[in-house]
Formats: sequence, structure tokens, C-alpha cells
Amino acid sequence: MDLTFDEHEAAFRDELRAWLEVNRPGPEPAGEDARWAWRMDWHRRLASGRWAGVHWPVEYGGRGATYTQSAIFFEELGRAGAPLPGDALGLLLAGPTLMAWGSEELRQRLLPTILAGSEPWCQGFSEPDAGSDLAALRTKATRDGDEWVIEGQKVWTSNAQYAKWCMLIARTGSDSPKKHHGLTYFVMDMEQPGLQIRPLRQITGESEFNELFIEGARVPHDHVVGGVGNGWKVTLTTLMNERAGLGFFLQVRLRQQVDALAAEAAARGLLDDPRVADRLGDLHMRAEAIRLTAYRGLTSTEKHGQPGPEGSVTKWMWSEASQELAQLAVDVLGPDALVEGTAWAHELLRSRGNSIEGGTTEVLKNIVAERVLGLPRR
Ligand SMILES: Cc1cc2nc3c(=O)[nH]c(=O)nc-3n(C[C@H](O)[C@H](O)[C@H](O)COP(=O)(O)OP(=O)(O)OC[C@H]3O[C@@H](n4cnc5c(N)ncnc54)[C@H](O)[C@@H]3O)c2cc1C
Repeated sequence: MDLTFDEHEAAFRDELRAWLEVNRPGPEPAGEDARWAWRMDWHRRLASGRWAGVHWPVEYGGRGATYTQSAIFFEELGRAGAPLPGDALGLLLAGPTLMAWGSEELRQRLLPTILAGSEPWCQGFSEPDAGSDLAALRTKATRDGDEWVIEGQKVWTSNAQYAKWCMLIARTGSDSPKKHHGLTYFVMDMEQPGLQIRPLRQITGESEFNELFIEGARVPHDHVVGGVGNGWKVTLTTLMNERAGLGFFLQVRLRQQVDALAAEAAARGLLDDPRVADRLGDLHMRAEAIRLTAYRGLTSTEKHGQPGPEGSVTKWMWSEASQELAQLAVDVLGPDALVEGTAWAHELLRSRGNSIEGGTTEVLKNIVAERVLGLPRR
């Protein structure tokens, strides 16, 4: 990817910089509901300036930004210390999946609300016995006239308590011995009686994710994405967008956190301690490597239209760096980093999940080995 800006790209950067200057959000509030509201408010503010989903095609409300402009967008967000939009699942996962596989009616109905931040999404993939081995899922969908009736259970469903829509995979055919067959991808309305959402308390004390019990929920047939029985391919599109997109989004956050920790270390006179300086330098380089790897992923997306399996590398590198950063924060701040309710204490506890969410590191290593490096399957 060539990161030398032409005059359009420089103008894009200047316009965004000027907008961010006057639209930067206030400080992040404490408390889960307040934080969600704050992030969605930021999402809507970005949308009002046409800055949500800059890379989306103009026909679906984006700016049709080039890949270099998308890179500029993330750079500038990081530079301004601004958070990521609230409905990342909609922008990064559901939107691109609908653009690749959804009917024109679904795209027209749903894409504008994703950009606007008016109807947030959740991802109903994992089940109690189907996480890494996702194709083992058992949630069942049965056709009933123009509708499908869904029965089953999902788990770890982030933001289900706030979501209007769910990307749901369910089994619609049970005869095939190959479990990847007979799966169908649905867009399920979360506001209906057949659903029970039970929050799961995490080590942070928050309940970011939930158990989702589905007992006779109904989905219209025209909310099937990519055709009946074709759900595995559609799911892979979502997963590849998740790994590549999240890696890209989160490298911005990592950069901000490395800078914040360096500032804390400087304030405590610890930059002269070679053990701290060494580890900060290492994290700085890793953040840069993740940034450049994410850019390389953009180039690959430009060539093939969709992100490829190499997005798994970014997500894996990010989760390791993020956990190392939280550990270093404890060493720099000492007991201050362990005070409940503080940002670093939250980070220390929350970052444990980074190597599990969106695909565990072990599974990502398998993908990189088999599908990027072409090593033989075990
Ligand atoms: C913070 C967070 C948010 C999440 N949000 C969502 C969400 O919104 N929607 C959703 O659907 N899911 C979500 N998940 C679930 C997540 O996708 C799963 O936890 C993940 O895929 C792992 O599945 P599992 O927990 O069943 O573990 P398992 O698959 O049972 O894995 C257990 C262990 O075995 C290892 N393992 C498994 N298979 C292999 C293999 N083939 N080779 C080597 N090692 C292997 C794993 O790496 C892991 O260490 C979330 C998880 C977290 C932590």
C-alpha cells in the first residue's frame, strides 16, 4: 500500500481533522449502560458528519473512501484520542456481510440504520458446545410458511441486551454427515417474545455478554442471508471481516493506550528505568507492526473484495500486545493499577478475554498455518 497522500487524500485528512477538532466526545463515563450510551452517541455524531463507515459505498450511505482514505480515517481517530463507534458489530461485521450476501431489500432496509447507529447488532454464533468448533452448533430453524421458527441457545452474545438485530446461524438441515452443511444465516429481530436474554457477569464486574435462550422466535423468510443451507460461507465472511476489521479498529486503541502508559511512566520518572523503557519500546514497535500489517490487509481486501485469512494475524498480534500492555501497566503503576473502577484495573481484567473473543489464539494460529502459510492440516 502506498501511503503517500495525493491532493484528494490530503483534503480528506484535513476535513476529518477539522471535524474531529470540534466534535471530539467528552470523557468516558463510568458504568456499563452509561458507557454504551456514550459510545452510541459518538457513533451517531460520526454518522451526522458522514464519518461512520467511510469505506462503505456511496449508494449505501458511505463515502466510498479509498483504502488509503480508510487508513487515514483510523490514523486520525487515533491521533484525536477519539473512541471507536458504538455499534462496531454492525459496521464491521453485519454491514459487510449484508453487502456481500444480503438481498437488495435487506441492504436497503438495514444498512442505513447501521450507519446511523439507530439499530445496534449482536452476533449469535457461539453456543455452549460450539465455540471454536462453531459448525457443531445445534440451534435449529424450522420453516413455517413464510417464517422460520428458531429453537436453541446461544452464549457469550455481546451487546444482546442493547441490540435490535442479531446475526444468527442455525441448523436448517440435519441429514448431512458434514456439519458445515445444512446451516443457514438469519437476521433475527431481538425485540420479540421468543427470546430471553440473561446477562453473564464477567471478571470486570460488567455483563458485556449474555446467554440467549431462543424459544420459538420467528424470523421472516426474507431475512435469510445468502440462501438456505449456505450459512457456513456467509458465516466465514462475517468472521473474516471480524478478525480483519477488529484488528484494524483495535490497533488504534492500542496506539492510544501505549501512548497513555508512556505518559504515566514519564510522569513517574520511570522512563530511565531500562526495564520499563525496553518493554514500552517493544510495545511501541508491536503497535506499529500491527498498524502496518492491518494496512497490508487493506491492500489484500482491495485486490480480492473481501478480507482474507491473514486478518487472523492482526487479531492474534493485537491480543498478545494488549495483554502485555495491561501487565506492564501494573508494573509501572504498582498498586494504583489494581484499584477497582480505574481504567488500568479494568484493562488488566478485560484483556484476558482478548485472546478468546473473535477466535482463540490457538485457532487463529491454525488458520494462519493452514490457510496463509499453506502448511499441511493436522
Ligand atoms: C469478551 C468476549 C466476547 C464474545 N462475544 C461473542 C459474541 O458476541 N458472539 C458470539 O457468538 N461469541 C462471542 N464470544 C465467544 C467466542 O467466540 C468463543 O469464546 C470462542 O470462539 C471460543 O469458544 P469456546 O469459548 O467455546 O472455547 P472452546 O472452543 O471450547 O476452546 C477451549 C480451548 O480449546 C482450544 N481449542 C479449541 N479448538 C482447538 C483446535 N482446533 N486447536 C487448538 N486449540 C483448540 C481453544 O483455543 C481454547 O483454549 C465472545 C467471547 C469473549 C471472551
